[in-house]
Amino acid sequence: MSASSFDVAIVGGAAIGSAVAYFLKSAEGFAGSVAMIERDASFATAATTLSAASIRQQFSTPENIRLSRFGLDFLRGMPARFGPDADPALREGGYLILAPPDGRAILEENHRVQKAEGAPIALLEPEALAARFPWLSTEGVAAGSLGLSGEGWFDAHTLLRAVRAAARAAGARLVNGEVVAIETEGHRVTALQFADGSRIACGALVNAAGPSAGKVAALAGRPLPVEPRKRSVFVLDAPDAPGDMPLLADPSGFWVRPEGAGFIAGYSPPESEDTPADPDDFSADHALFEEILWPALAHRVPVFERLKVTGAWAGHYDYNALDQNAVIGPDPELSNFFYANGFSGHGLQHAPGVGRALAELIACGRYRSLDLSVFGYDRIKAKRPLFEKNVI
Ligand SMILES: Cc1cc2nc3c(=O)[nH]c(=O)nc-3n(C[C@H](O)[C@H](O)[C@H](O)COP(=O)(O)OP(=O)(O)OC[C@H]3O[C@@H](n4cnc5c(N)ncnc54)[C@H](O)[C@@H]3O)c2cc1C
Repeated sequence: MSASSFDVAIVGGAAIGSAVAYFLKSAEGFAGSVAMIERDASFATAATTLSAASIRQQFSTPENIRLSRFGLDFLRGMPARFGPDADPALREGGYLILAPPDGRAILEENHRVQKAEGAPIALLEPEALAARFPWLSTEGVAAGSLGLSGEGWFDAHTLLRAVRAAARAAGARLVNGEVVAIETEGHRVTALQFADGSRIACGALVNAAGPSAGKVAALAGRPLPVEPRKRSVFVLDAPDAPGDMPLLADPSGFWVRPEGAGFIAGYSPPESEDTPADPDDFSADHALFEEILWPALAHRVPVFERLKVTGAWAGHYDYNALDQNAVIGPDPELSNFFYANGFSGHGLQHAPGVGRALAELIACGRYRSLDLSVFGYDRIKAKRPLFEKNVI
C-alpha cells in the first residue's frame, strides 16, 4: 500500500499501540504496512507516562493473571531483547492488598483463582501481618494478600521508548496527527481522516486510544463504555517510613509504594463518587490528599504522619464503566475494527501480552499463545459484565 494507505492503522502510539505494532512486525513477521498514529508525540497526557507503572498477579480474572505473567517475563527480559539501555529497572517489591471483614470472602475467592494460576501469593491473618510488617496498623483488617515474587514496579518510559523504537526498527511507520473521523463501508472500516484535513485508507484499524477509546469508537459509530477517570498521584518524602515496604493497597481506597528514595501514593474513590473526567483536566487534586488520602495513610501506617509532598500529577484511567475489564478483539459489526481498550488502571503491565495477542488475531485470525476471547466485545453488546474485582 502507498504512504496514504496502510494495511493496519493503529490509533494511539503509547504502550498498547506500540506493542501491537511491535509484535505484528516482529513476532508475527507481518509483511503488510503498519502505521502507529499519534496526536501527541510527547505523550504528555498519555496514561502510559502518567501511570504508577506497577505490575501484580493479584487479579480476579485468570486471563489478567496470565497477561501479567507474560508482562513480567517481558520486563525481566527487556535488556536481552532490546539491549542494555532498555533495562526497565523492575523492582519486585510485591503488593500487599488488605481486606476489611466484609471484604475477606472476596480476597479469599481471588486467592483461590490466583493459586490455581500458580501465582505465588500468601494469604495472611492480622497477627501474621503485624509480625511481618511492624509499621502496619491492622485495625479493621481481616486479612491481607501478599505477592511473594513477580510483583512490583518499573520505569514506564523505558518500556514505551524501547517497544516503540523496536516497532519502528521492524518497519512500522509513525504518523503524527489526530484522527477526527472514521469512514466505513458496509461492515468494514475503510479510511481515517485527520484534523489537518488529510486522509489515509486502511485495511484494518486498531483502537489503542487509551482513555479516549470511547471517543474513537464513536467516530466509527460504535458504542464503547470506556471513558477517562482522573487519578492523582502524590510524591512523598517520608523519612520514617520503611523503604522496603511492598505496594500497599488499603480498603479505604488508597495505595502507596516506594519510589526512589521516597514514595508515591494515590486514591481511587468509591464507584458512586467516581465520575468521568474533563478530558483536558490534568490538575492534581491536592484537597483530596489533605482531606482523604493522608489521614487514611497515617491511620494505616502511622509513620506517614510525618511527610512532605514534594510533587504531584494527575492522569486518566482508561475506565471501562461496564466491568473495569479490558475490551479486546474485533467489533462484531465492523469486522476489521479491533479494540484494545478499557484496562481500567492496569493496562501498562498488560501491554506486551495484549500487543502479542492482538497481533496474532490480526495476522492469523486467531489467538495462538493466550486466549483472550473472554474480553471480547460481545459482552458489551449483551451488557454482560465480566467484573475484575481487584481494581486499584
Ligand atoms: C494515575 C495512573 C496510574 C496507573 N497505574 C498503573 C499501574 O500501576 N499499572 C498498570 O499496569 N497500569 C496503570 N495505569 C493504567 C495504564 O497507564 C493504562 O491502562 C495504559 O497505559 C493504557 O495504555 P494505552 O496505550 O492504551 O493508552 P495511553 O497511554 O493513554 O495512550 C493512548 C494514546 O492515544 C493517543 N490518541 C488518543 N486519541 C487519539 C486520536 N483521536 N488520534 C491520534 N491519537 C490519539 C493519545 O495521544 C495517547 O498517546 C495507570 C493509569 C493512571 C492514569
